[in-house]
Amino acid sequence: MIRVGVNGYGTIGKRVADAVAAQPDMEVVGVTKTSPTYGAETAIRSGYDLYAAIGDRVEEFERAGVGVAGTLPDLLDAVDIVVDCCPSGVGEQNRSIYEAHDTPAVYQGGEDATVADASFNARGSDESVADADSLRVVSCNTTGLSRLLAPLEETYGVEKARVTLVRRGGDPTETGRGPINDIVPDPATVPSHHGPDVNTVLPDIAVDTAALKAPVTAMHTHSVNVTLETAPTATAVRELLEGEGRLFLIPERAGLDGAGALKDYAADVGRPRGDLWENCIWTESISVQGRDLYLFQNIHQEADVVPENVDAIRALSTDLSREESVAKTDEALGIGL
Ligand code: NAD
Repeated sequence: MIRVGVNGYGTIGKRVADAVAAQPDMEVVGVTKTSPTYGAETAIRSGYDLYAAIGDRVEEFERAGVGVAGTLPDLLDAVDIVVDCCPSGVGEQNRSIYEAHDTPAVYQGGEDATVADASFNARGSDESVADADSLRVVSCNTTGLSRLLAPLEETYGVEKARVTLVRRGGDPTETGRGPINDIVPDPATVPSHHGPDVNTVLPDIAVDTAALKAPVTAMHTHSVNVTLETAPTATAVRELLEGEGRLFLIPERAGLDGAGALKDYAADVGRPRGDLWENCIWTESISVQGRDLYLFQNIHQEADVVPENVDAIRALSTDLSREESVAKTDEALGIGL
């Protein structure tokens, strides 16, 4: 069993912990919190041992009646691998602690690419990541783009991808984020950082991205235009994308018309927290004009990186191929709508 610790039990961390716990070859040794807030209570209710992320706060947990099994160094000593799910930039600060404990680490996409030996996406990265001692799972948007562009590149060749990302203003829990009545370019400069981030896992794909922020919390929406090197039919592209396990082609008959309905569907089919681990592609939007492919896809920002974290753990700690790991992860989680 691969013994895993999760440092930072927030939006991504709690989902990663549950996904790890569902794997037949992994166990969650413990998770950390910085203070005894509701996440500390729900971690314990989920059956996870809780560790204080900051050593001198143990008393604060005790005063709140929340028992801790130890502090972060204790957790690092007890695991084979740590998944850092701390806020952007904190992972970089934690790196020296993980290295001092000789604990391989998986970081998240809010960190700079330099935080780890390599950036990772299960569909996009090549097998050379197996040599890494640390990996950075690319961000939610980059994950969604990599999953889409990798099969297009392999099958048709990508001459140039141009993507406009309409990003959610904040996650549902992020009450202080915005905008609340506007759609703002963010960043206002073009290209945005997302294209270069795709190149950390797919270095040969030419991709320009422009990004906006909208007053929604449920999902990101991508408007995608890819100039291919050949001119397939829209039907052929649809069949190609249907063959990808982490792409969900939204059936036209289903009456799903937006992120609200998609999340409702996910909750109704029993997905934990209504999570959509797959890219959600609007099937009727897939169209080809000459060599230009167009489509819209939605990305559930809280969820799509979760299976990638599980595969990153296996990439660092087993000899399983990328395909074998993805198959194991997908079966354990029930990926594929
Ligand atoms: P979050 O704020 O929801 O969770 C972070 C957790 O880490 C919180 O519980 C916080 O209390 C805790 N924390 C803060 N400092 C800590 C420390 N020093 N040690 C241990 N824990 C600490 O953040 P998130 O949305 O889960 O983001 C985590 C990472 O994942 C970031 O790099 C982010 O960019 C990336 N990411 C986020 C999303 C998203 O949409 N939320 C999507 C993809 C990737």
